[in-house]
Amino acid sequence: MALIVHKYGGTSMGSVERIKNVAARVAKWHRAGYNMVVVPSAMSGETNRLIGLAKEIQSQPDPRELDMLACTGEQVSVGLLAMALKAIGVDAVSYAGWQLPVRTDNAYTKARITGIDTEKVHRDLQQARVVIITGFQGVDPEGHVTTLGRGGSDTSAVAIAAALEADECLIYTDVDGVYTTDPRIVAEARRLERITFEEMLEMASLGSKVLQIRSVEFAGKYRVKTRVLSSLTPPDMDLATEAQSGTLITFEEGDAMEQAVISGIAFNRDEAKITLTRVPDRPGVAFSILGPVAEANIDVDMIIQNQSQDGSTDFSFTVHRNEYERALAVLRENVLGSIGAKDLVGDPKIAKVSVVGIGMRSHVGIASLMFKTLSAEGINIQMISTSEIKISVVIEDKYMELAVRALHKAFGLEQGA
Ligand code: ASP
Ligand code: MG
Repeated sequence: MALIVHKYGGTSMGSVERIKNVAARVAKWHRAGYNMVVVPSAMSGETNRLIGLAKEIQSQPDPRELDMLACTGEQVSVGLLAMALKAIGVDAVSYAGWQLPVRTDNAYTKARITGIDTEKVHRDLQQARVVIITGFQGVDPEGHVTTLGRGGSDTSAVAIAAALEADECLIYTDVDGVYTTDPRIVAEARRLERITFEEMLEMASLGSKVLQIRSVEFAGKYRVKTRVLSSLTPPDMDLATEAQSGTLITFEEGDAMEQAVISGIAFNRDEAKITLTRVPDRPGVAFSILGPVAEANIDVDMIIQNQSQDGSTDFSFTVHRNEYERALAVLRENVLGSIGAKDLVGDPKIAKVSVVGIGMRSHVGIASLMFKTLSAEGINIQMISTSEIKISVVIEDKYMELAVRALHKAFGLEQGA
């Protein structure tokens, strides 16, 4: 019989009552004959509470001890869920990450999974037990407990599904799937029945927070069939209907005739723009600017440099807003004078808006429709970048919602369109 992994987020695990609902749902699948593995998050708010406690003691808590503390939220969840299942007559067993083990590197607070031992899980499944495994945590080669970064339970679930070669990984969450854009901004946003993993990766990296981005990378790499669906439906809902609900992350492009060219509009306000003006146009300049930025461990996203007219050109790029001041300081101290640029200017009041769709590969005119739509709204484009399946623009942040709404409409993404 098929092997299914369920992942439940913090909201779904938020109270004893809700944990009983999760147990009822898992029991329904188990009784229908599926081999069940469940990966829950900590109860909602719990990880924040734990990190808050740590910060009352140390403003920059020791990373090893922080992981030791933060991983306990998930341990509470697996224990309670196993009890809730047993209470309704379903045999279940819980494991912490280190007990399997879920092996990771030793990068505390952002560890990467390197391997998962599945022996115990298979043995328990053979005994018809539901196996419950903590999300978010693992163990490094020396035996120290690690965590995978905020939102890491998604990655735990997909990685466990990959290791077990599960038939499907179902991520139950408080939204009922992946939408064409954030429904809080565009009321007509539509749930997608399917999205390719590449599009999902773009959507996640561009600010759609439905799944931790690493989980999407895992799903892509190991081809784990992954579905995002609502945990708010009645637990006794018809199983076949539930199994088809939400959004399926696929690996095929599907029928091109049926597929919309654009799948979604993503946006974020997390970036800031930095420009060096009148940079001399000679070899090595881009490296002289971005080298020190990289050395300071600051991630750069979009970069533009134009052709020079008179031996110099403006050079702009974006960084995360949290690193904006630091990036300016690095450039002021190490770059501005030494490369002979005229000025260093920055702007944190920007937003990035992107159209994403695998259909771009086979259709022309997407960029022109995007720019026409923004121009009709009088929105100035400051920067542009593209990939094979995405076009992003940087605009003034106060126009972000207007841009998202206009593009959603222009690309015909509304309900019933
Ligand atoms: N409990 C962890 C967090 O809040 C992991 C997760 O929920 O995915 O970030
Ligand atoms: Mg989450």
